[in-house]
Amino acid sequence: MQVVRLASETDLAGWRTAARSLRASGVPPEAAIWTVDGDASLFAGEAGPAPAPVGASFTVPREFVELAEQVILHRSDERFSLLYRLLWRLESEPNLMKITTDPDVDKARLFARAVSKAAHKMKAFVRFRSVQDEAGEAYVAWFEPAHRVTEATAPFFTRRFANMRFSILTPDVCLHWDTETLAFTPGADPADAPSSDALEDYWRTYYASIFNPARLKVGAMQKEMPKRYWRNLPEAGLIPELIAKAEARTSQMVRQAPSEPERRIVRAVLRASRDAPYDGQPPASLEEIAAGVQVCRRCDLYRDATQGVPGEGPKQARLMFVGEQPGDQEDLAGHPFVGPAGQVLDKALAEAGVPRAETFVTNAVKHFKHEQRGKRRIHQTPNSSEVAACRWWLEGERRIVRPRVIVALGATAALSVFGKPTPIGKFRQQAIQLPDQGQGVVTYHPSYLLRVPDKEAKAKAYAMFVEDLRFAWDLAA
Ligand code: SF4
Repeated sequence: MQVVRLASETDLAGWRTAARSLRASGVPPEAAIWTVDGDASLFAGEAGPAPAPVGASFTVPREFVELAEQVILHRSDERFSLLYRLLWRLESEPNLMKITTDPDVDKARLFARAVSKAAHKMKAFVRFRSVQDEAGEAYVAWFEPAHRVTEATAPFFTRRFANMRFSILTPDVCLHWDTETLAFTPGADPADAPSSDALEDYWRTYYASIFNPARLKVGAMQKEMPKRYWRNLPEAGLIPELIAKAEARTSQMVRQAPSEPERRIVRAVLRASRDAPYDGQPPASLEEIAAGVQVCRRCDLYRDATQGVPGEGPKQARLMFVGEQPGDQEDLAGHPFVGPAGQVLDKALAEAGVPRAETFVTNAVKHFKHEQRGKRRIHQTPNSSEVAACRWWLEGERRIVRPRVIVALGATAALSVFGKPTPIGKFRQQAIQLPDQGQGVVTYHPSYLLRVPDKEAKAKAYAMFVEDLRFAWDLAA
């Protein structure tokens, strides 16, 4: 029996070194015991793995390496041995990672998804409290991640709050950022973090302002914001009241809207789409797409977004809406069209007699592209390669849902759907044959309607928008 003692619960480098040695020495998975340093006394006297023989080397698929980076952060004690078993089997089964029905592969993917979800929850639910120390104002948050994702999410927080001194305390490890250097210290206790400050009011006001009663689904909301996180969320206390008042409440929210793509971007999207054929297996289900966008690295937009926002709606929807990208509120909520543009869409759909619940709503790009200005996140239009890269997911949604009609909302969506510039003024109210299946319709992005400054022009544009939705619905009948 070989005992491997890793330096920490997330010691991927240590695991990799030991796994290489074990495999090169022919130690089968069932003969290896994995433990972290603190548990080593349990196995005192057992021999560790010998160093890998000189010249012993082997390669593994990149997919396995990426999966291992996620799986190692799972809280299951089984993760080290599961990864070693996969590594061991890869020698005789080089295509193992592609066999999604294999129990080991399936379990590793489940672990990776859980870790990815925990990371996204951490990005969304960390709440800082202000403290004063000898250097002035700093911020401290207490958080208990479902898995060991603190170190992995650190770059997100340092980018998002680059100019702020802060610490995030967790039971596993604490991270500290002084605006230049990132440091880690051992895990802490909730009592080490302050419990309240003036920021509580900010969070409560913010949450109340983004709460969208028209889209209220209590079950879905609790799924996205599980109760385990509530005790650290100042806004959680508002939830019962907001739910109770949801029917009566109206929201006035403002968000910067998508803009028209420039000509040079249009050309580049077309070029990039042609020149970058998709690789890998196309997604086979909406669930796979929903999970896939959370771990997607096809472009850099995942870096600063809270989470990927996949499309939503029935699998057999006859009408699909494609917008540009999630906005600030969609990024936080994880659902498409729930912010101000979503409210305009909901209102117009109701007037056009189109039940939103029977349509599939998605975006050309699944992560929120923005620029941080102080505390505000300002929308940025996705560039050519980002739109082209994300067509992989939109194509997947189109292939699975097979809508009779696709409505492109705005010029960026039209470019992604039709693969060529499709001016709205010229093509609205027309059924455009799509090369693969169904027909397409182009109309304004609802956020454009929010930006029209002149009242009369705004009313006219809105009426045209409702007309276009009705046209699309009739076409899909
Ligand atoms: S925007 Fe699309 S392509 Fe880019 S990382 Fe997100 S899901 Fe992947």
